[in-house]
Amino acid sequence: MALCDQSLPNVRAISPYLPGKPITQLAREMGIPVERIVKLASNENPLGMSPKAKVAVEKALVSLERYPDDFELKHALANHVALGMEHIVLGNGSNDVLDLIARVFLSPGRSAIFSQHAFAVYPLATLSAGAELIQVPAKDYGHDLEAMGNAIRIDTRLIWIANPNNPTGTFLTYPQLKAFLRATPPDVVVVLDEAYNEYIPPLERADTTAWLAEFPNLVVTRTFSKIYGLAGLRIGYALASVAIADLMNRVRQPFNCNNLALAAATAALDDHEFVARSYALNRSGMEQIVTGLKHFGFSHLPSHGNFVTFKAGDAAALNQRLLKQGVIVRPIGGYGMPEWLRVTIGTETENFRFLEALDNALTRPQQ
Ligand SMILES: *Cc1c(COP(=O)(O)O)cnc(C)c1O
Repeated sequence: MALCDQSLPNVRAISPYLPGKPITQLAREMGIPVERIVKLASNENPLGMSPKAKVAVEKALVSLERYPDDFELKHALANHVALGMEHIVLGNGSNDVLDLIARVFLSPGRSAIFSQHAFAVYPLATLSAGAELIQVPAKDYGHDLEAMGNAIRIDTRLIWIANPNNPTGTFLTYPQLKAFLRATPPDVVVVLDEAYNEYIPPLERADTTAWLAEFPNLVVTRTFSKIYGLAGLRIGYALASVAIADLMNRVRQPFNCNNLALAAATAALDDHEFVARSYALNRSGMEQIVTGLKHFGFSHLPSHGNFVTFKAGDAAALNQRLLKQGVIVRPIGGYGMPEWLRVTIGTETENFRFLEALDNALTRPQQ
């Protein structure tokens, strides 16, 4: 038998993750200078990273020979979410903590539930652990909580929920979520992925971490990749009951978060000015892009994140025309939405470049 036929069938069943096209790759492929390229494909922060985080990274450069000490970040996070440090699990990006949860609760003979059009890392983590994946059809492109509840089987150990969801931007209200938690058997873990939490208007945002006391089966995950602008450093975290956090920390590689990421995240958490600026830019940019999309006659899914998904029709062709003009957006065929494109909200200038490229693509399609 060939060597790779000996690999685990659940691993062979995984579809490779398709990241947004890197700027340097488009530059190589099309000969477009890097500075002419606008990347709105990976929900990164168009303002860059928090200036406070930058200073902290520079300071941390002098001690890279030492293994990381995560005390300060955990301490800062504990204050931030008003929970004890023993509730926190740090990850190399929040994708890492999603994987840790899967490794603690999933295995062959068990199943996990997720929604159609939900974040790609849930199938990845589930299948890596050898568990069966139950995909529940979406309702209006968002999670159908009632159907997800009905899909729970005797072997179901975990339910993945993204709120807001990527790539659809859909949002479940807090009363809906709470009712779902109440109805879910207490021996099934509910993962609530809040990567875009900070983009929810503060007055509409509920403090889901306070729910941990009532629901010991809840795990909330958040990230520094989005509003804090640290995607390249890879740092995120989970908030869970002390018992679950302890189990996740047992399977975690001891030094999964590096010195620079820890220092940057600690400083970024404290940079309220940067977060407020990022939030405001996202609000105005969302309006700019949605207005433009409507102007061109595209329908879009109202989004609660830092991106918006619109129905492009022949998305592959439109994407190609945008790429030729140096504008990178995200095709989401892999999410079961082959006619749609997802665009990240950029700076005003980047958004303008995107809309201009869209205009060119529509009016001069032969280019
Ligand atoms: C971007 C994103 C994350 C964050 O991933 P990191 O590993 O923290 O960079 C998590 N969940 C969803 C739904 C996302 O879109």
